[in-house]
Amino acid sequence: MQQGATNLIVFQDKYSTEEACREHLFCLRWPSGYTCPRCGHNKYSYHSTRRLYQCKSCKYQVSVTAGTVFHRTRIPLRKWFWMIFLMGRQKNGISMLSLKRMLEIKSYKTIWLMGHKIRHAMAHRDSYYKLAGLVEMDDTYIGSKKSGIRGRGARGKSKVVVAVENIKNKPGYAKMERVENLKGKTISCAFDNHLEGETVLRTDSCRSYNALISGQRKHQPVNVSAGEDPLFFLPWVHMLISNVKSNIIGTYHGVSIKHIARYLSEFCYRFNRRFWENQMFDRILNACLNCKTITFTELSQ
Ligand SMILES: [Zn+2]
Repeated sequence: MQQGATNLIVFQDKYSTEEACREHLFCLRWPSGYTCPRCGHNKYSYHSTRRLYQCKSCKYQVSVTAGTVFHRTRIPLRKWFWMIFLMGRQKNGISMLSLKRMLEIKSYKTIWLMGHKIRHAMAHRDSYYKLAGLVEMDDTYIGSKKSGIRGRGARGKSKVVVAVENIKNKPGYAKMERVENLKGKTISCAFDNHLEGETVLRTDSCRSYNALISGQRKHQPVNVSAGEDPLFFLPWVHMLISNVKSNIIGTYHGVSIKHIARYLSEFCYRFNRRFWENQMFDRILNACLNCKTITFTELSQ
């Protein structure tokens, strides 16, 4: 992937009009030139007033945003572009209230929905990856600002299972899932599809993780009774738990149980691409172009 616009001045110049934004989406959606979504033909005519591409073979008309996260949006693409740029470039994410003010979006509901649409695309993109090799796993409570009894959680908080690859003592890819409880069956449902066959799960001895073990997968619990220190053997999962908690409280001032999964996806998406900061904008745009949108009604269910 090419290096995108990496600073504010270049970004502002490059995407200063709706047309420039649309052209960029066109290049990302059809990198080898236009292809009709219905018949695969590659010749088209452009209807500038309705901003539709019409296939010269089957006459099918399509907009560059049809079937994507931007489907039927009334928000200018320039505002979407800035939002994605800022969400991708801020290490700890950015609050929706700040974005509402910066982008002059009238209602909080609108910016809230835009944020969740982008997070939904991030989650969809990361669902293609599986964790492999040595994987550290642990669970925690995340959510509201209220402090609870240590290790027992509190009202308004979600139980979250965190997994991260440990590659030669460096963190690799990470996944986080909200779970209802820590029963083996629940953990298996949430994580079985996130793990490759040949995986060694290192945990702090919670037996529920055994439910993920089958075939060539192995469980390597830390032997606390033999004096092994979980913090030493599970360094990266503890680092991630600490970071995601301060991110959710610091940037978002706590999030509701109902929507926490998408905030966790946003955190993991940024973490998993921390070495490609300069490509973040185009990567998120690509994720948004390759994902069906989610509506307010679907989010409210
Ligand atoms: Zn066609």
